[in-house]
Amino acid sequence: MAAPEPNDATPFLPERSSLKALREASAGCRGCHLWRHATQTVFGEGRKSSRLMFVGEQPGDREDRMGKPFVGPASRELDRGLEAAGIARADAYLTNVVKHFKFEERGRRRIHQTPKRFEIDACTPWLEEELKVVKPEALVLLGATAAKALLGSSLRVTQHRGELLDSDLAPIVTATVHPSSILRQPDEASRITEREAFAEDMRVVAQALAAV
Ligand code: SF4
Repeated sequence: MAAPEPNDATPFLPERSSLKALREASAGCRGCHLWRHATQTVFGEGRKSSRLMFVGEQPGDREDRMGKPFVGPASRELDRGLEAAGIARADAYLTNVVKHFKFEERGRRRIHQTPKRFEIDACTPWLEEELKVVKPEALVLLGATAAKALLGSSLRVTQHRGELLDSDLAPIVTATVHPSSILRQPDEASRITEREAFAEDMRVVAQALAAV
């Protein structure tokens, strides 16, 4: 019988915590079962000196194929929000709570599946290392999975989006919806409304950063 999955990325962390060492080590992570069907690990991207860190849920189909975070359709919505708030994407570090794409196959399509708590827990050591290395001044959690993973399961993103939250994770911590939720709106009018709400949340971050 095959050995059970370890369900913890810790044994795969490198001795030296630099972004380069972490990225290289994460490529070989077998800390949970999610590596088995995904194409590759999708580690965070951005400079160590980034003042701002965005954390999403997990890579999507495009990210999985390209090995880069936030390159799929939702990333265009993220970019719009950043642009509206005057934030340069190049100044931000972008990552996800879970580093492998979790999906189910329906015909030729790979449909996103929300990671379960044990998968999030297994992968969190990578994110903790990214936080330690980058030490962002502002941390923005995109969507319920990221917010609950880092701030506790009682946090309701829809109730607290755009608020500056009390946390030891960074001087400025806030949560908002994942930009993919804009794409899931049923019509163009709701997409426009959601886009503006997301841009407003980004403006809160930009203003808080400007005041530091
Ligand atoms: S999802 Fe995270 S813990 Fe699981 S194998 Fe991938 S990198 Fe490792």
